[in-house]
Amino acid sequence: MRRPELDRTFALWFSSHRYSRRLHKTVRRLVPDSDVRFLLSESGSGKGAAFVTAVAYRLSEQHRLIDATLAEFKLTHEQLLQVKKRMRIEIEAGLRKKSHDHAKVKMLPTFVRSTPDGTENGDFLALDLGGTNFRVLLVKIRSGKRRMVEMHNKIYAIPIEVMQGTGEELFDHIVSCISDFLDYMGIKGARLPLGFTFSFPCKQTSLDAGILLNWTKGFKATDCEGEDVVNLLREGIKRREEFDLDIVAVVNDTVGTMMTCAYEDPNCEIGLIVGTGSNACYMEEMRNIEMVEGDQGRMCVNMEWGAFGDNGCLDDIRTIYDKAVDDFSLNSGKQRYEKMISGMYLGEIVRNILIDFTKRGFLFRGQISEALKTRSIFETKFLSQIESDRLALLQVRTILQQLGLDSTCDDSIIVKTVCGAVSRRAAQLCGAGMAAVVDKIRENRGLEHLDITVGVDGTLYKLHPHFSKVMHQTVKDLAPKCDVTFLLSEDGSGKGAALITAVGCRLRDAEHN
Ligand code: ADP
Ligand code: MG
Repeated sequence: MRRPELDRTFALWFSSHRYSRRLHKTVRRLVPDSDVRFLLSESGSGKGAAFVTAVAYRLSEQHRLIDATLAEFKLTHEQLLQVKKRMRIEIEAGLRKKSHDHAKVKMLPTFVRSTPDGTENGDFLALDLGGTNFRVLLVKIRSGKRRMVEMHNKIYAIPIEVMQGTGEELFDHIVSCISDFLDYMGIKGARLPLGFTFSFPCKQTSLDAGILLNWTKGFKATDCEGEDVVNLLREGIKRREEFDLDIVAVVNDTVGTMMTCAYEDPNCEIGLIVGTGSNACYMEEMRNIEMVEGDQGRMCVNMEWGAFGDNGCLDDIRTIYDKAVDDFSLNSGKQRYEKMISGMYLGEIVRNILIDFTKRGFLFRGQISEALKTRSIFETKFLSQIESDRLALLQVRTILQQLGLDSTCDDSIIVKTVCGAVSRRAAQLCGAGMAAVVDKIRENRGLEHLDITVGVDGTLYKLHPHFSKVMHQTVKDLAPKCDVTFLLSEDGSGKGAALITAVGCRLRDAEHN
């Protein structure tokens, strides 16, 4: 039976502060992960209470399902230790002669045998191919009292049809960019020594020869895999018949990064990239590198760690979303670790989760918009923006709206949670790999404790608000016997290539004299 007077009294009572505060608190305690709101009702405490309970229940059930999905992205300490252990096993397989050919983490010798010693001197050209931009650089290195490095560079676009056209077109394009740069700098007649930063897996037999094993990161030019990229470049220069260059070194960006940082800090013996892709290199003992003759000293090994997991050894932690991203990539089945870590893929993982959540009715009122269907719309830079601590929820909503995703406040909270889960896992996985590397170096040297510096480059590492912190913490947790310093590299691909070229010239001159 309706009793209007009583309802009114209840409404008055409800609006008295003390009561409502207590009610809110109690409900929050009873359903902690639900977002329950109270509206003043004109009628019916019974109906109202039932309604509130139903909404709270639906929300808590929804949150439970969301949490359950995102739990797959939360790796335990045990799981991360497993990842570290497996990385170590793959490292060993790559280094051994008998397993090298089938190893997924290739551990490619780079023929860089020492880090810079400060005596490097001269003018060098460098090319940086292997990521978002193609650059040509002039690097002037001075040693001794006037020690300094001066750089001039120009960025050139590589149109997608060139990235995925023929090898000849790609290298003709590269050579025409070099030509433009030489004109721009007024140095066309100089025949400068050149270091070619080429950030794809290459089998090197010397400092200036590198056979491309396979393209990664969106490149797919034909007739390049299996070829020596230095030859392809030399042929391109010959075809143009306009200028000549002395190609001294082919350089992986990880190695360039390590060298650049080692120029400032001699303790730097590891290079790490977390940009479009992810990869690492480090100074390994020659006696452990079975693919290269000789047991003395060390050589930098380009790990090509992005391919970690390509034999299935990470499948237990890969989610259906990782598999979806992989299936639609240019190199499906390849670079599985990289695809869980790096800038080219994190946004896509997030988009795939958001699509699933929308289908299940948790997001965007269950409506999959055209925007959400668009591949690559959710760039990794949006993860950085959305996860920024300084951003209010309303601003997250604005970002999503700019992407064409019409979202409520609740949607924004969910999207932010998804981004956090994906980027945190990326940083932890990267840290687990790095923990394997530092512990290997420590054991190589028979040390109880190792102090070492890692040179790092890559926009994701540099600009994401939490990635670096989480990664550092993971390395600390998983390799407690190592004190690891992370040094941001200043243009590793340019400066590093020049430093390696300088060392290469020095060695060559010494050989000839
Ligand atoms: P590359 O690895 O191609 O040499 P970068 O290190 O600049 O070049 O990395 C580019 C990648 O960084 C892009 O693929 C993009 O996903 C990612 N990225 C760009 N801006 C940001 C940002 N603000 N936060 C996180 N990642 C970003
Ligand atoms: Mg780069």
